[in-house]
Amino acid sequence: MSDCIFCKIVKGDIPSAKVYEDDRCYAFRDINPQAPTHILVIPKKHIDSVAALKPEDEATVGHIFTVISKIAKDEHLDAGFRVISNSGADAGQTVNHLHFHILGGVKMGEGLI
Ligand code: 5GP
Ligand code: ZN
Repeated sequence: MSDCIFCKIVKGDIPSAKVYEDDRCYAFRDINPQAPTHILVIPKKHIDSVAALKPEDEATVGHIFTVISKIAKDEHLDAGFRVISNSGADAGQTVNHLHFHILGGVKMGEGLI
């Protein structure tokens, strides 16, 4: 997707603060952090959202969750963290490239989830 900002981040056309990278996924710090630790994990392949996932994406998404677990350990989020993926307009998705927010470093309230 040539006009997708997260595809541009994967390609290095837009700079980002990289946290982790392998052949299938890329993780970087959110530009507008909502918690002391706020990292986005994305597949390198363009997928619109959770709603757009296909059976052939299962391995990629499973891999991303293993990476999320590793990042949480590396970032010392031992007291806990939250993983969020907004899908579609009602959820407030603003970038239409599948991404998982890792939020941590603060005790979160019980609102919404
Ligand atoms: P969404 O609202 O779609 O769930 O989350 C999109 C996230 O991407 C937001 O938290 C926003 O701050 C982040 N974001 C948008 N553009 C950029 C960017 O160019 N660089 C980085 N690092 N984060 C971005
Ligand atoms: Zn994309």
